[in-house]
Amino acid sequence: MTTPPPAPASADWRARARGLRIRSRAFIDGRFVDAVSGRTFAAMSPIDGRTLAEVAECAEEDVDAAVHAARAAFADGRWRALAPARRKALMLAFAERIEAHAEELALLETLDMGKPIADSLAVDVPATVRCYRWYAEAIDKVYGEIAPTAPDSLALVTREPLGVVGAVVPWNFPMIMAAWKVAPALAAGNSVVLKPAEQSPLTALRLAELAAEAGIPDGVFNVVPGFGPVAGKALGLHPDVDGVFFTGSTETGKLFLQYSGQSNMKRVGLECGGKTPHIVLDGCGDPEAAADAAASGIFFNQGQMCTAGSRLILHRAVRDRVMERLLGHAAAYQPGDPLDPATRMGAMVDETHTMRVLGYIHVGREEGAALLTGGERVRRETGGCYVQPTVFDGVDNTMRIAREEIFGPVLAVITVDSAEEAVAVANDSPFGLAAAVWSDDVNTVHRVARSLRAGVVYVNCFDADDITTPFGGFKQSGIGRDKSLHALDKYTELKTTWMRLR
Ligand code: NAD
Repeated sequence: MTTPPPAPASADWRARARGLRIRSRAFIDGRFVDAVSGRTFAAMSPIDGRTLAEVAECAEEDVDAAVHAARAAFADGRWRALAPARRKALMLAFAERIEAHAEELALLETLDMGKPIADSLAVDVPATVRCYRWYAEAIDKVYGEIAPTAPDSLALVTREPLGVVGAVVPWNFPMIMAAWKVAPALAAGNSVVLKPAEQSPLTALRLAELAAEAGIPDGVFNVVPGFGPVAGKALGLHPDVDGVFFTGSTETGKLFLQYSGQSNMKRVGLECGGKTPHIVLDGCGDPEAAADAAASGIFFNQGQMCTAGSRLILHRAVRDRVMERLLGHAAAYQPGDPLDPATRMGAMVDETHTMRVLGYIHVGREEGAALLTGGERVRRETGGCYVQPTVFDGVDNTMRIAREEIFGPVLAVITVDSAEEAVAVANDSPFGLAAAVWSDDVNTVHRVARSLRAGVVYVNCFDADDITTPFGGFKQSGIGRDKSLHALDKYTELKTTWMRLR
């Protein structure tokens, strides 16, 4: 058995960053092209404020060209009409190429959006590879149905690809969020136009190139970098897009419903924001483990997670034990150089978002919550965007820091006196993406888990994740589900073929 080579040290990552060839043009119909206008925007690294590349700024005409290429590919069947086993083989080759370029892609992701290189390597790249592999492997095992009609008929219920699929994704896990949409959409036979977030377009462009190298035909996977209100909107309003699948804020998600209504009534899938309640009850037998999970649940990825456990709801009986350990973790999560493999907390995605998060910290103070730790911007000398892990105690669920999604390393601690009160606080939110409960009492666990209005409920764990389970939100956290075989529902049309038998 051979052991893998050791991961590079920080100096190596910096040297590699200097030598990196960055793809910065749109990828349409199998080749890199400039925006029709010739315009570009700067891809800035939040690590140090440096410009990494000038990226093609796609607008309506570029989106139109990408949709046109995707439609042509769909119409002639160069991908849609392949045997599922053939699509599988090509997608597996694509996954293999991603794996072969793991370090390059991890570095691009870290430079572009500031997460620690250790996380890009251990989380983002492997999860992306697994997602493409899983849908590739699944697609030649999905069967249709025969309906139980009367004997004089035969009714086939089959699935067909939707057609041209638009995917609009955020910057917090750029590769993974794109993979959750692109992988099932491609596996099902669709053609895809992906609009990455303007804060993090670089890995998407490289992935499109790797897909082409793996043999995925021209026009099947297109990438149009650009700004949301222009390129994203153009995709949402395009009359020849059959479905648009979005991950991002609830505010923007609502716009996609409007775009659909204003254009061709395209199918819309939404994965939106959250304000996850993380409940630790008096029956929790391991408050230390709960504290560990509470810390990583809000500080991992600099708190820029849709599932971030941003409301820690503690039963008074376990409160002190959890808080003591949690504050110790906060001290250990101080932001460092994202290119140092030992760093656990990196940079916020950009200056605008940093100011937004600091603004919420100001709001928390003004609302009268008690700032126990953090609250400051740090590492200013780097020119980058770094915010300390921040914990507010004495939070009331009516405060803005408990109601609105901050999307940063800011925790609101709410103390309760019963499981019933915990559930009431947890459910008193416009969001319903995820929730967690810690208790060793099996009755309490079941009662609470059933009462929580959320798409995912974690019991005695937090943010457990696997491609095999559906993911998405209740209430204003979204419409539809990513991951698992359920995601294929979004990217396929159900067809009944009714045959009268003579
Ligand atoms: P965002 O809504 O600002 O942007 C998301 C995407 O939408 C980007 O590609 C952006 O360019 C585009 N966009 C922005 N304005 C647009 C407009 N007017 N028209 C069309 N497209 C537009 O969100 P963000 O700041 O990139 O990401 C953070 C949000 O994403 C958080 O709310 C987070 O909870 C959510 N998120 C949800 C999930 C999930 O699975 N539920 C996963 C990750 C992130």
